[in-house]
Formats: sequence, C-alpha cells, structure tokens
Amino acid sequence: MVDPREDTVDIAIVGGGIAGLAAAAALADSGCSVAVLEARELPRLPTLEGAAPADYDARVSALTPRSIDFLQALGAWPAIEAARSCPYRHMTVWDAEGTGRIEFDAQEVSAPSLGSIVENRIITAALAQRVRSLGGLRVMAPARLATIERSPGPDTGDEARRSLLTLEDGTRLRCGLLIAADGALSPTRQMLGMPTREWEYGHRAIVTTVAFEKGHQDTAWQRFLQSGPLALLPLDSPEDRLCSIVWSIEEHLADDIIALDDEAFGEALGQASEHVLGKVTACAARKAFPLRQRHAVDYVLPGVALVGDAAHTIHPLAGQGINLGLADVQVLAEELNTALGRGLDPGREDVLARYQRRRKGDNLAMMAAMDGFKRLFEQDTPPLRWLRNTGMRAVAAMPRVKRQIIRQAMGVS
Ligand SMILES: Cc1cc2nc3c(=O)[nH]c(=O)nc-3n(C[C@H](O)[C@H](O)[C@H](O)COP(=O)(O)OP(=O)(O)OC[C@H]3O[C@@H](n4cnc5c(N)ncnc54)[C@H](O)[C@@H]3O)c2cc1C
Repeated sequence: MVDPREDTVDIAIVGGGIAGLAAAAALADSGCSVAVLEARELPRLPTLEGAAPADYDARVSALTPRSIDFLQALGAWPAIEAARSCPYRHMTVWDAEGTGRIEFDAQEVSAPSLGSIVENRIITAALAQRVRSLGGLRVMAPARLATIERSPGPDTGDEARRSLLTLEDGTRLRCGLLIAADGALSPTRQMLGMPTREWEYGHRAIVTTVAFEKGHQDTAWQRFLQSGPLALLPLDSPEDRLCSIVWSIEEHLADDIIALDDEAFGEALGQASEHVLGKVTACAARKAFPLRQRHAVDYVLPGVALVGDAAHTIHPLAGQGINLGLADVQVLAEELNTALGRGLDPGREDVLARYQRRRKGDNLAMMAAMDGFKRLFEQDTPPLRWLRNTGMRAVAAMPRVKRQIIRQAMGVS
C-alpha cells in the first residue's frame, strides 16, 4: 500500500535561506524533481515605506559582483534591485593605531561598483519569490527535518546512497541527493556525523542600522581597532545617511556595548569610527552574534552535499560568508548539470567530489586570510603596528597589487 505521507524526489534541499533557495532556483531546469524544505515560513518581499533605522533589516550582506551576476542568472536580482540595494563604489580601510590607510575604488578596475549592500530579508524574499514562480520545484515551508535514514542506492556499480528524510510532522521524503543548506549549526551535517574543525574567534558581532550626520558617499568604511574591526556599510536611504553597522568586538567588551542606551551607543560608535561620518543621530535596536570559525572536514558523502554556512562559517570582517555560499551553489549546480547531461546519477561520489575539489581550496584560502587579518590587527606590539601601517602604505602605492586585491574581493580574479 502506498503511504500518503511518503514521497520521493531526485534532489531534496534542506534549508531555505539564501544558499538553499539559490540552489533550488539553480536546479529548477535540471530535469530532476527537486524539493526545498525550510523550517520557517518563506518570507515575502516587504513593503519598504519607512526610512528610519528601525525600518531596515539589521542583517545585510555585501554582495560581490560575482554573486550579483549569479543572482541575475537565477532571475532574483531584478526584484532585489527594485526593492532596495546600495551599490558601493569606494572602500576605505584604516588602522586605529597609526597612520595606515588604504582606499579602493571601482574605477581602478574599470568597474561600475565594488558590490552592493543588500538587506538579507530582501535577498531571501526575492529568491523565495523566484522559486515559487518556477515550475517543477516543490516548496515545503514550514517543514522541519527531524531525522535522516540512509540506505544504498538502487543501481549497481555506483556508490550513490539514498536518504529517507522524516519531518517533524511525520511526513517522509526519499531522495537520491540531499543538499544541506541548513546553516552554521546544520542539523543535517550533525545527524550524518560529518565532522568540522572549529575555533572561537573570541569576538561577537554587534549589528544594527544607524543614521549619521554626514552622507556615506557610496563608501564601505572599515576601521581596524585592537578590540576588533568595525564596518559602516552604506544603505540606500534618504540623503545617503543610513549605514548598517557590523562591529566585531572582543567577547568581554560586547555585553557592555550592547547594554548602552541609544545615546551612549551612538557616542561609543562615533568614537570607534573616529567620527568619519560625523555624529550618530539615530539608531535601531542592536543584535549580537557570536563568531566562530567552522569548516566541515568533508563537504560531501555519497548522495549528500553541504553548501553555504553548513559547510563553512567565516569572520564577517570582509563580508564574504554568503558570497562563498553562493559560489558553492553555483559550482555544485554546474557539476550536477554536467553529470545529468552525461546520464550520470547526480548523487555519485565522484560527481560530488569534483564539487568539493573546486570549492574547498577557495573557501580555505579566504578563511585563512580573514583569520590572518584579524590576528594581525588585534596585536598592539610596536613591531606589528609598524608592519601593518607600513604594509598598508606600501600596498596603497602599488596599483597592480591593489587591483589584484580588489578583483579578489569582488570574486572576479
Ligand atoms: C554579523 C554578520 C555579518 C555578515 N555579513 C556578511 C556580508 O556582508 N557578506 C556576506 O557574504 N556574508 C555575511 N555574513 C555571513 C552570512 O550572513 C551567512 O554566510 C549566510 O546568511 C548563510 O546563509 P545560508 O543560507 O548558508 O544559511 P542560513 O541563512 O543560516 O539558512 C539556513 C536555513 O536552514 C533552515 N533550517 C535549519 N534547520 C532546519 C531543519 N531542521 N529543517 C528545515 N530547515 C532548517 C533555517 O531556518 C534557515 O532558514 C555575515 C554574518 C554575520 C554573523
């Protein structure tokens, strides 16, 4: 007898955040049956009437041109652009302990911008809208994965394994390929016993939206303080006066900063940013996120692939987290479509291993670079202070090296 609460799809994607929804959109034309399941309701594009700090999502992403091109190819970018996004053309990075300063400008690489700052709820809602509009995709939300059972694949000669997913409401879904896009604490990764290497950064990120006295000048500002980096990210707002703040700060200082009232927080932020945009005139509520580096030892098993934060989490100091996640999705979709074009089972270990090979090195290099930056700037010994200030000035005077850094950060090197 057929169990009405059991179904089968070729590919199941667990997690309907940015990475999971992008994966669903990227696989819509693969010829496979695809289901995406998300524990929460999928968001709809918000009506963006207010322009006070509290009307903005405190979580934003600095999307690189590579990520924007990918979102464009997936058909989600037009809705993002029509809603609210802020291209930034310039970036200023400076050291709180010395004279080191470096400026990056899109013109140096003949690009219209270095990227765009977009609220996460807008990216997710635009992708959700796109996924809902595409035929052949099954969207299950809210639907929370509870358990996974694994069994060998039906075919002889290949190592693909099938997964039987049981949701909290008892519904069961069988799939040939399970894509885990369920975030940093990935229940899928944990249920499958896939190990990670992890360490604490000893930082918490405080995020909020603030209004400054001066306009942001389409610039992303980043000041390296000994207690952690502070970023002021420009937002599309009246007179360009709103910025999203990502203030990474040593764990023991974070509680005191979060406990400050609006006026005292604005004062502290003004000092920490050297009043580069003048005084803080208004601010929204603060949220804090513990920062931990995590990297899955393997991104794949036969019939399973991890993408986005499920595979890696990284310090937000260069705003690369979801950019790496979108690159994972893009490469995985390419490999799966190539395998399908050759008539191969997309859950085959060798197919998935190619995805892992193409992504792991890039992700590791970015994680190591962010870790190195963080450590270099938190040291206050005179030789290191001298080294980083001299280094910044030297790089500022080397246009070719600067161009290479810009292209790397834009995801187009
Ligand atoms: C302070 C801060 C600032 C950042 N700034 C930037 C930036 O400027 N640029 C950038 O690129 N990145 C940035 N990042 C990183 C970026 O936010 C993350 O990389 C990104 O949100 C991860 O997306 P994801 O889709 O992989 O995971 P998530 O957004 O975590 O989505 C996972 C989804 O899975 C769902 N889920 C979980 N468990 C289950 C289950 N059992 N069943 C069903 N569904 C489930 C969850 O509900 C969730 O919707 C920042 C991060 C922080 C902390």
